[in-house]
Amino acid sequence: MSRARKALQGFEPYDPAFTPCRVNLSANENTHDVPMPFFNALREAMASTPLNRYPDPMADDLRRQIAERHGVEVENVLVGNGGDEILFNLFFTFGGPGHALVTCPPDFSEYANFAKMCEMPVVSAWRDPETFAIDVDALVAAVNDVQAAMVVLTSPNNPTGDLVDPAIVRRLLDETDALVLLDEAYVEFAGVPELLGEDKSLVGWVAENPRLMVLRTLSKAFGLAGLRVGYLVADPAVVDMVGAIRQLYSEDVIAQSVAVQAVGHRELMVPVVADIVDQRERLAERLAERLAALPGARVWPSSANFVLLRVPGAATVRARLRDEHSILVRDFSAAPGLADCLRITVGTAEENDLLVDALTSLVKETA
Ligand SMILES: *Cc1c(COP(=O)(O)O)cnc(C)c1O
Repeated sequence: MSRARKALQGFEPYDPAFTPCRVNLSANENTHDVPMPFFNALREAMASTPLNRYPDPMADDLRRQIAERHGVEVENVLVGNGGDEILFNLFFTFGGPGHALVTCPPDFSEYANFAKMCEMPVVSAWRDPETFAIDVDALVAAVNDVQAAMVVLTSPNNPTGDLVDPAIVRRLLDETDALVLLDEAYVEFAGVPELLGEDKSLVGWVAENPRLMVLRTLSKAFGLAGLRVGYLVADPAVVDMVGAIRQLYSEDVIAQSVAVQAVGHRELMVPVVADIVDQRERLAERLAERLAALPGARVWPSSANFVLLRVPGAATVRARLRDEHSILVRDFSAAPGLADCLRITVGTAEENDLLVDALTSLVKETA
């Protein structure tokens, strides 16, 4: 351990605390069956892709398909092995000692982890402890105070579920000099399902705002978490810089050809996203109803494919859901600012019913 680079000491392999369960609502994956024509297009791409040649390093076919999706230029698109790889490469590129990242926790814990690995100081502009609202004045001040290299906002935020007010992004662009990274991993669930969230996305701002970078992924709405495809829409100078330092072949040939089909056939996923959005509203309503009498319980509104709730004894509730009902959810009770909080991925109607009934019976016993 002591031989490792100093900034890396203390890091441990990621453990998602995954136990095989009948119902897994712990990782914000898409648990729905995908429509048959979508599945067939992907399977055909998989089967017809030769494996003997190296991949196209910049994945230009996929970049073209993505550029077409968003009405941007190919030069604005960078593909990566999941959004995670792009996050790391952005912090590696623009971070380092004296080049701080400002985050708004509670948010995606990988931001702080990856930044620390890249020796990028992390400054926290904490959200309101009850509503999770961002204090925009404090945020702008924090960015300017340290002359931050970058500020990251998550819209909708993981794990709190709220969408970022575009006015906050506007103020960061107008009143600071930082790069502004907007993580839209869940944006497909935030808007009109027919538009797959484009009505809530700020991708359209990139052309006029060269310091804005928007991160997207196929891991959530597209149901392709295992494929590892994410992308960044940003100024061509950012794309070239990060493109120059990234691992040449991190996006393999199968991922590239399958992702071209997935993005090309995206309208086939509209009914799936629409159902997840319906289910989310139903799940949040029913949880709020069943927990209404419980002191200290709370369910936050969500624009994503998960719901955050607070229940007394959350860690115990989570363990009993797993052990007695074979249902897996994510426990955030040890995370700063998220005492007694559980995050539940929106599943199919059937999965959500099982979850609501199991949770209700456990909470009654515990109360
Ligand atoms: C899931 C997620 C990502 C990206 O996930 P990948 O599977 O690496 O594409 C990025 N940001 C947030 C907030 C996420 O929850």
